[in-house]
Amino acid sequence: MRNKLKFYSTTDRSVRVTLREAVLGGMPPDKGLYMPEFIPRLPQSFLNSLDSSDYQTICLEIAQALLGDDIPSAALQNIIHDAINFGTPLVWIEDRVNTLELFHGPTLAFKDVGARFMSRLMAFLIKDSGQKLTILVATSGDTGSAVANGFYDIPGIDVIVLYPAAKISQIQEKQIATLGKNITALKIDGNFDDCQRLVKTALADSDLLRSLRLTSANSINICRLIPQIFYYFNALRQIGDYLSREIVICVPSGNFGNLTAGLMAKKMGLPVQRFIAATNINHVVPVYLTSGTFAPRPSVQTISNAMDVGDPSNFARILDLYNSSWKAIQKDLAGAYYTDDETRQAIARLAHKTGYVLDPHGAVAYLGLTDYLAQNPRFDTGIFLETAHPAKFKDIVEPVIGKPVNIPLRLKKFLDREIKSISMSHRYPDFKEFLLLKSN
Ligand SMILES: *Cc1c(COP(=O)(O)O)cnc(C)c1O
Repeated sequence: MRNKLKFYSTTDRSVRVTLREAVLGGMPPDKGLYMPEFIPRLPQSFLNSLDSSDYQTICLEIAQALLGDDIPSAALQNIIHDAINFGTPLVWIEDRVNTLELFHGPTLAFKDVGARFMSRLMAFLIKDSGQKLTILVATSGDTGSAVANGFYDIPGIDVIVLYPAAKISQIQEKQIATLGKNITALKIDGNFDDCQRLVKTALADSDLLRSLRLTSANSINICRLIPQIFYYFNALRQIGDYLSREIVICVPSGNFGNLTAGLMAKKMGLPVQRFIAATNINHVVPVYLTSGTFAPRPSVQTISNAMDVGDPSNFARILDLYNSSWKAIQKDLAGAYYTDDETRQAIARLAHKTGYVLDPHGAVAYLGLTDYLAQNPRFDTGIFLETAHPAKFKDIVEPVIGKPVNIPLRLKKFLDREIKSISMSHRYPDFKEFLLLKSN
């Protein structure tokens, strides 16, 4: 039996921590990102017969290969059973084009997958410690709603979500601030950067850390990436004769966690030939892929706003996976980027042609995939990830397609609920006092 899996920091590979430290700590003190020291290749028999398993069995096999020495099989099975309680259907769109719908979770965005898994894994890791864990999340929208819902009613864990008073859509606020129980929503009189500064200051405040066990739940936590590996295999499970196909997958990207999970899946043996990183005009990674130069810059606002990232945090992980070789990265990964006009046109065109309604993030990926397929006829199967339900972005989508978007029932239920947030200034002493009062 091998030793327990350790995690190193992308900044200093000699740093080694356990799963517990990586998950509960979130980020290494040297500000790198944790990576598993070893990414196992899955058995060929498993890779050859995905289509004879069901989704949860696939999840368990992958999780066991990665974490099996740290978590007893029965516990891992419970975590997966509870966290991965919605499917990721592959839907045929048109010739050579399929979409993997990742929006069937409670907040209608793919971030539900990572948040639900993280919450159950954290609950398992703290279960015997007797101490409550308090999670702080700053959000401009999607992350906060997925985390708040993912941790709702999880024993031993309190979540405090900070969101900017003005800069949030009504749907997002309803998804964050109507839950109650162990979820507290703080409406901060400021912008997203103020929220983030409050969280960062608190996480480094030794005075607070004496009475509270604090951690964050942002997308750099390695345990959010692990369950995202699952659905890439689930995509292939739904394609017949996938071993004899040339397959390319296009991922709409912002912080590049989703794509990193896909590249990790490839390392574990996912039989896919190529990935495409599709972005909006925040295009630092597509530019890197063609030029070899990575030049972070301030983000620009777009209609696919969950991808408005100028300095993608998981880029360090992609470099790490390929030992920083641009040539090696280029071999597996192509890039493309699109303007808001192109994105709107794609939504309109596909709705008109087929009736399928894209959200703006999925539309960017659809463009990335179809352009690539047109230039690379040897690929017979394309998949793009649809990361959010169009109803979440109905203000953008409805004028483009000229008719109402269907609102799923689980989203309607949020809209009827009452907001219970606490308003707060953006001054740190106010936030600290609130946390100290809560700890008593
Ligand atoms: C967060 C998000 C993305 C970007 O995912 P990354 O893992 O940060 O690249 C894409 N689409 C939607 C809808 C999102 O919420």
